[in-house]
Amino acid sequence: MPDITIQNLTKVYEESGDEIVAVDDVTLTIADGEFVTLVGPSGCGKTTTLRCVAGLNTPTSGTIHFGERDVTGIPVQERNIALLFQDIALYPHMSVQENMAYGLKIAGFSRKERIARVEEAAGLLQITDQLEKMPSELSGGQQQRVALGRSLVRDPEVFLFDEPMSDLDAKLKAELRPVIEKVTDEIGCPTLYVTHDQEEAMTMSDRVAVINDGELEQVAPPKEIYDEPESKFVSQFIGQPSTQFFDGRVRAVNGRGTLVVGDYEYEVSDGLKGWSGDDVRVGLRPQYITVSDDAEAGIPATHLLDEPLGDATHSFFETEFGEVIVVTDPDFEGNGGEYGLVFQSDYIRLFDVDSGVRIA
Ligand code: ATP
Repeated sequence: MPDITIQNLTKVYEESGDEIVAVDDVTLTIADGEFVTLVGPSGCGKTTTLRCVAGLNTPTSGTIHFGERDVTGIPVQERNIALLFQDIALYPHMSVQENMAYGLKIAGFSRKERIARVEEAAGLLQITDQLEKMPSELSGGQQQRVALGRSLVRDPEVFLFDEPMSDLDAKLKAELRPVIEKVTDEIGCPTLYVTHDQEEAMTMSDRVAVINDGELEQVAPPKEIYDEPESKFVSQFIGQPSTQFFDGRVRAVNGRGTLVVGDYEYEVSDGLKGWSGDDVRVGLRPQYITVSDDAEAGIPATHLLDEPLGDATHSFFETEFGEVIVVTDPDFEGNGGEYGLVFQSDYIRLFDVDSGVRIA
């Protein structure tokens, strides 16, 4: 199967005389067999990127290749792709079997071949016992499996998914996620999966591509995106609860950069040397902040409330930097009084105040 190569893709829409840059110079390669998720907030250009790869939108500039083949100007029906949307749109008057076989019938496949392909796909999707049912008798998750099966039987070169699970409840999502992973793994084509749900992106992908305002911010494996975000945006968007931010300042001490936050100083890394005298944005994931009973041991914080989740508690504090969420122990119960928030210095990440680019 071919790689997908997106090269300098830009898409500009015109609306009432205004230009909207939906996708801005995106370059991304999805290797054969690789599962890449394009994730970002609403309106950041995810769907437009996917539609250009599918051939449903024409790029303003840039190219799309499947392997060596330049498909930029080639219509969707000539691209041999499996496309799955949020909107499932099965034929309501056809059984599951007929829905899955319909495209093959139109393409002139024999009855024997149609049955064989549908049975193989149904086995992979664990819907063999549903083949005689009508779409109205299926749950949303099962309907989405049928829609996936309809694409699978065509032997696609490339998988494209646009928020296929956004209409499903949490339980159905959890059931469908491993099915999509298994199917894309077994078929082994490159997969581009669009979602605004960072949990889906983190759990399903080989690499996550974070897009913001039409531009790619970072492309990396999920753990790297989480631990080593290259920008404040990525740090904030990936992870729940989100990264907590504080104002800091870099001070030179004996030729080394030292981070100052409120009344506290932290040795962060040699990478701070050139930043002396500058304000920086300090980011910490909420599990790397420790709550001390001693209000003077860290950033002064007034306890607001706790949300116990069973395996952990989300505790809210008011500080001079605004409201801060800390992931505390399952049995933590704040008393509404004063605490000190202590940073675990290995996990401090620093960002440029203006550009949001990671400094250290
Ligand atoms: P969502 O998650 O809400 O679907 P998205 O990240 O997929 O958002 P796009 O749908 O690609 O984002 O839209 C990117 C930008 O392009 C938005 O500002 C959107 O309003 C604009 N846009 C999308 N399609 C069109 C169109 N056909 N005509 C004009 N503007 C469009």
